[in-house]
Amino acid sequence: MADAASRAGLRYDSPAILEFVNALHVPHDQALAAAFDAAALEGLPPIQVGPSEGKLLGLLLRLIGARRVVEVGTLAGYSAIHLARGLNADGHLWSLEMDPHHAAVAQGNLALAGLSERSTVLVGPALEGLPGLVPQGPFDAVFIDADKGNYDHYGRWAAANLRPGGLLLGDNAYYFGNLLDDQPEAAAMRRFHQEAGEAFDCVCIPTPDGLLLGIKR
Ligand code: SAH
Ligand code: MG
Repeated sequence: MADAASRAGLRYDSPAILEFVNALHVPHDQALAAAFDAAALEGLPPIQVGPSEGKLLGLLLRLIGARRVVEVGTLAGYSAIHLARGLNADGHLWSLEMDPHHAAVAQGNLALAGLSERSTVLVGPALEGLPGLVPQGPFDAVFIDADKGNYDHYGRWAAANLRPGGLLLGDNAYYFGNLLDDQPEAAAMRRFHQEAGEAFDCVCIPTPDGLLLGIKR
């Protein structure tokens, strides 16, 4: 039963409800569990998308029959496993990750998921890796979930390298609740929203920290 404060805020979820729907709709196999629990298992930060957002990413890819997808920010591969599972059988996911330890953990988890052939983790700063991916495009979807101060750059790259009808996905689109703050990362995130609104037909899905979804015009 929601308490008065959460009812006033029109939140109908609760930890127990989320546990129920996630256990039912996003059961974790060994690979998803290893990626989701990488904080405890590997000492990585626990900043992956939630189970429902991860599953949503994969379902969106299935809806558009995605074959070529780019992720910016791999961490332990939790969202990457969902994305790669949403690809057509002949599809490929390229995921960019700056931290070599994160990348190694993610490669292990993608292997555990049987997705090594369908995925490539590129180690290094995304701004340096993205230009090398251009010849693999145009892409069907780009999922952005790395350093927030560069979201505007990543969004521009996505606008230039997605096919018409391709999907832009941006996690943490509320910037941890600081989107309207007077600070450089918040300003970059606002530019990301503004420019995305020009090149894409967008909605900001109200996940806990906002998930921007845009279809390229
Ligand atoms: N998408 C993941 C979570 C990513 S967390 C999931 O939901 O499972 C953000 C990741 O981006 C971290 O692993 C961090 O090391 C990486 N990162 C931060 N800045 C980066 C940059 N400039 N280039 C590439 N990766 C970066
Ligand atoms: Mg995120």
